[in-house]
Amino acid sequence: SPEAQMNPAQAAIEIEAFRTQLDAWSHAYYVLDAPSVPDAEYDRVFRALQALEAAHPELLTPDSPTQRVGGQPLPFFTPVRHAVPMLSIRTETDTEATGAQAFDTRVRKELGLAPDAPAVGYVAELKFDGLAMNLRYERGLLVQAATRGDGSVGEDVTQNIKTIRQIPLRLPKDAPAVLEVRGEVYMKRAAFDALNEKQREKGEKTFVNPRNAAAGAVRQLDPAIAAQRPLSFFAYGLGEITPAEQGGPDFQSHFQLLLTLKSWGFPVAAQVETAQGASELIAYHQKIGAERDQLPYDIDGVVYKVDSLALQRQLGFVSREPRWAVAHKYPAQEQMTPVQGIDIQV
Ligand code: NAD
Repeated sequence: SPEAQMNPAQAAIEIEAFRTQLDAWSHAYYVLDAPSVPDAEYDRVFRALQALEAAHPELLTPDSPTQRVGGQPLPFFTPVRHAVPMLSIRTETDTEATGAQAFDTRVRKELGLAPDAPAVGYVAELKFDGLAMNLRYERGLLVQAATRGDGSVGEDVTQNIKTIRQIPLRLPKDAPAVLEVRGEVYMKRAAFDALNEKQREKGEKTFVNPRNAAAGAVRQLDPAIAAQRPLSFFAYGLGEITPAEQGGPDFQSHFQLLLTLKSWGFPVAAQVETAQGASELIAYHQKIGAERDQLPYDIDGVVYKVDSLALQRQLGFVSREPRWAVAHKYPAQEQMTPVQGIDIQV
């Protein structure tokens, strides 16, 4: 590969340039909520850096953008140390067939499955284009909502999250003593258009896209302003939970877990499906790709997850990503518009 042919001195210079560039883009995206380049461009440079680091492992350092999740938490909010780290997901940008196939092949290899072993069971979901949130419930009451931040430490945004009507403030009696629900806070397209219209009327800055508007609303210092920015929520996973030995639920599969979250009152997307093997993942990617424009909110891809929680534990994690999940992206939907300002009201 071209990366491998580069001499180490050249590679070190390239790597440093990529890291500086990615850090600057990430700061604009995660900290200022004002992306300065399209995601596809960010992803292209990110993959180029990953390839260079793979060819020159001696140049890999722990502070590389490839080794971390998201952005630094803003100092205005109380920091929250996550009981269970909030990680990223490996991104596949390949075509339907090769992206899903590559994931299934990796999973089967890691699990040591024989070529004639039965298909692996997956769950296929939408990849919502919003921001990740950890909702912590103790004895059935919402006690804290935190952003992902750098994956280890996020921001306490409980007051703003309480303005989201879809998020239950209390849970049914059968919910465990400690429950952290993870999901995506997002803004529907209609709400985004209405918000931008209002901003224009008031002569205030407009937002680049619904993700950016949602992130700005969640990180508002004034909950009254956050309340005027209609946000929505989808649950897709768990953080900390009372262990089964201590009376917590004994989930066997990711699908079962999602159904239970739904029964406890959390919104779970209707498009969640189980799938057997790569062929059904490919079919799901095609089907959702065709429906994508009709959805009332933005998605930037679909996510495939190994369904069995026992197999997920066996697969484990590699640096910032679980080995049991992958995000399979679609080509970018929206074009970048010039950024007019920075959405942090302090
Ligand atoms: P990511 O944000 O693409 O993926 C991980 C996230 O997916 C999770 O934290 C969660 O919030 C979300 N998600 C949505 N639906 C989910 C589901 N069903 N199950 C699980 N998670 C789900 O990955 P990342 O590494 O955190 O962020 C990198 C992405 O951010 C890149 O794809 C890049 O395009 C974008 N980015 C863009 C810029 C820019 O300047 N344009 C800068 C930095 C990052």
